[in-house]
Amino acid sequence: MKTLKFKLYNHKRNRFLKQSINAAGVIYNHCIALHKRYYRMWGKHLSCAKLQAHIAKLRKRNSFWQLVGSQAVQDICQRIEKAYQLFFNYHKQGVKPPGFKKVKKYKSFTLKQAGYKFLGDNRVKIGSRVYQFWKSREIEGTVKTLTIKRTLLGELFMVVVVDNATEPEIKFETGRIAGFDFGLKTFLTYFDATNTEKIESPQFLAQLLNTVQKASKQLSRKLKGSANRERARKHLVRQHEDIANRRRDWFWKLTHELTNRFDALCFETLNLKGMQRLWGRKVSDLAFGEFLQILEWVATKKGKKVIFVDRWYPSSKTCSSCSHVLEKLDLSTREWRCPSCQLVNGRDENACRNIQMVGASTTGLGNVRQSPTAIAA
Ligand SMILES: [Zn+2]
Repeated sequence: MKTLKFKLYNHKRNRFLKQSINAAGVIYNHCIALHKRYYRMWGKHLSCAKLQAHIAKLRKRNSFWQLVGSQAVQDICQRIEKAYQLFFNYHKQGVKPPGFKKVKKYKSFTLKQAGYKFLGDNRVKIGSRVYQFWKSREIEGTVKTLTIKRTLLGELFMVVVVDNATEPEIKFETGRIAGFDFGLKTFLTYFDATNTEKIESPQFLAQLLNTVQKASKQLSRKLKGSANRERARKHLVRQHEDIANRRRDWFWKLTHELTNRFDALCFETLNLKGMQRLWGRKVSDLAFGEFLQILEWVATKKGKKVIFVDRWYPSSKTCSSCSHVLEKLDLSTREWRCPSCQLVNGRDENACRNIQMVGASTTGLGNVRQSPTAIAA
């Protein structure tokens, strides 16, 4: 599966797509209301099939709702169902049930097999109208879904998910495998069987924070609903997009560098919610999740492997030299002496050594010492 993103030409006709997104938002909110009412009346969860049948019936009598294709309506119901299942399974970990959304901020609608057609070149027919897009790359493989997305600036993008049957084989070229650990101060620390190295984050947001702060102050001073306020809002959104673009650019370069150097790259699965609680806004600035997405993409392209180690594995608390596991380790402790072998472990270096060892044990690479005590703990 591959996700391709194209920008649509700016055109008056785009307003029809935006109307469809608005209508999708209204339908979404209606579904949420139905779910809530159904639960109040019957004390149980409204099934996806029942909801779909009911919404399809309502749609027949509502011309505004018909701006959204029947497939997209089904997709809305299925998405809400998924969100509820997530809530049922993980509410103890703090996952909330899906709630109402502002229609103005509603982002997208998705079509599956029907409702669109690629007409060759850069033209696509959505509903009864033809739109053009900036064709930055070929669309190869079978198209699975097509999503129209609206950004905060009001631009429209087309996101196409294609299924390409040929997945590249993993090539082992360098024979090197590295363990990585994300950090607040140092973006990444890694270990590759001989030495540890640090990759510092360029801290884009910190550098550009002044301009962002100025822009948001400007926005707060403008009268609500005024044209000036809308202009200031767009200015602020552009500043944020600028930061995101520079960061993404850096990620691409870094992931290419790392995948050239290593055959396999081991990471801990992320607990973004937990990191956010501990570290605050900085986490979204560091954008670990986005980095991993790009890394996985580049790695599959080059036939390299990204390995994830379960985040419950105590990578920080385990001594990488003798596998002794500490009872507890404060987040502020940057260094600790192992009570069993007396070695002084630097927090980040020690963690990525462990991640490398556990990750390597899942592949056939290198001669790797297993540490069963650490895994059991
Ligand atoms: Zn030790």
